[in-house]
Amino acid sequence: MPVTDTIAAIATPPGRGGIGIVRVSGGDLRALIEGIVGRVPAPRLATLATFRDGSGAALDAGLVLHFPAPHSYTGEAVVEFQGHGGPAVLRLVLARCVELGARLAAPGEFTQRAFLNGRLDLAQAEAVADLIDAATATAARAAARSLAGEFSREVHALVAALVELRMYTEATLDFPEEEIEFLAAGNVVVRLTALTAQVEGVLAQARAGALLRDGLTVVLVGRPNVGKSSLLNALTREEAAIVTPVPGTTRDPVERRVEIAGIALTVIDTAGLRATDDPVERIGIERTWAAVGRADVVLLITDAREAALHAEDAAILTRIAEDVPRILVHNKADLAGIAPHAEAREVWLCARDGSGVALLEQAVLDVVGASAGTEDTYLARERHVVALAQAGAHVHAALRHATGTAPAVELIAEELRRAQQALSSITGEFTSDDLLGVIFGRFCIGK
Ligand code: GDP
Repeated sequence: MPVTDTIAAIATPPGRGGIGIVRVSGGDLRALIEGIVGRVPAPRLATLATFRDGSGAALDAGLVLHFPAPHSYTGEAVVEFQGHGGPAVLRLVLARCVELGARLAAPGEFTQRAFLNGRLDLAQAEAVADLIDAATATAARAAARSLAGEFSREVHALVAALVELRMYTEATLDFPEEEIEFLAAGNVVVRLTALTAQVEGVLAQARAGALLRDGLTVVLVGRPNVGKSSLLNALTREEAAIVTPVPGTTRDPVERRVEIAGIALTVIDTAGLRATDDPVERIGIERTWAAVGRADVVLLITDAREAALHAEDAAILTRIAEDVPRILVHNKADLAGIAPHAEAREVWLCARDGSGVALLEQAVLDVVGASAGTEDTYLARERHVVALAQAGAHVHAALRHATGTAPAVELIAEELRRAQQALSSITGEFTSDDLLGVIFGRFCIGK
């Protein structure tokens, strides 16, 4: 384990609370603990103690919890001083820790140490932050699954399959005279095909997981009076479905947050964009335009009795990238005498009584690829999705090289190496020595 300095931080949120915790991590904390509570308590046993300053005066009384290395969150020695949750008293305890040699921890530094010490892999370390930031219950559960290592296990399974394939291809390169049956028999094509499907499966899950984490921006476009507000109300009809805004973002009047299937949706009514040039509103309008530019799905609302696209709608649509999926919503189906139904990317509904709105919700999930359900998924990040897509592309390229009349073994090997590198970037390790170990461990070189 690398020798590191001692870091300390107030681990509980700012403000007043029942309990406040100062957490310390470092190589050996016995002197620091003794300096504050006069003795070193038994490992992992909550012990009541008085926290004292340098002159021996009491700062607080609370529990001290000592986790000697390596059985701690960071893998180093960790101590927690659990006192009363007031900002001033916590700052005094923290200052005392600094006096005794600790320095203030940088954001995420405890988790970073946990990663560096192998307590968590990179995807799990990210899940710690995502669990804390989760905006919906489903996202929180999914983050907990990632933290428990479910996502990492899927990635490791892919890496294991890749390493196995690389073992054979590299051996074929190293020992060409030893005609490896595997390549000749075309097994490599079978295996690569299976691996492509496996990567696709994990990628689809990770996409759903990234949606859970990041939510979706849905933009409503339509002329006045087609029923945008009614549709927004229908989408947000259940009090329980309203999601609290992500901290740090202000709630714009034209933005509403709803939740469908555990995914946080920011619904933007572009009616706000048609508003006046009032300088007071301009900031809000600019923010709305920025959000429109980030749209994941566009709902184009029309009156079911007509379907013409108005110039203003067309203007808004030009601000949205062409590859952003659009769903055409024919509202007021009741007036047109059409029963609510859905066809490809068109939905007929009645926003006023809410009939057909569930079809629209389903259509939104379908176009973003979340219809597989988000119940059992793990949380993932865009970074993971990108890495998995890269890995998939490399495996696919390897498959192309393998299906020619003369399989290009060097190219297959190179694509597989890159695929593994992409996958390993997810969990944060890439050690080619591992690969060598597997090759030589499995093959009888003397043969
Ligand atoms: P917006 O200007 O696009 O936001 O449209 P509103 O939601 O304010 O709706 C305009 C009018 O259409 C209101 O009188 C609504 O009650 C009515 N309306 C909206 N949706 C429906 C619908 O599905 N059926 C019927 N019959 N009327 C609707």
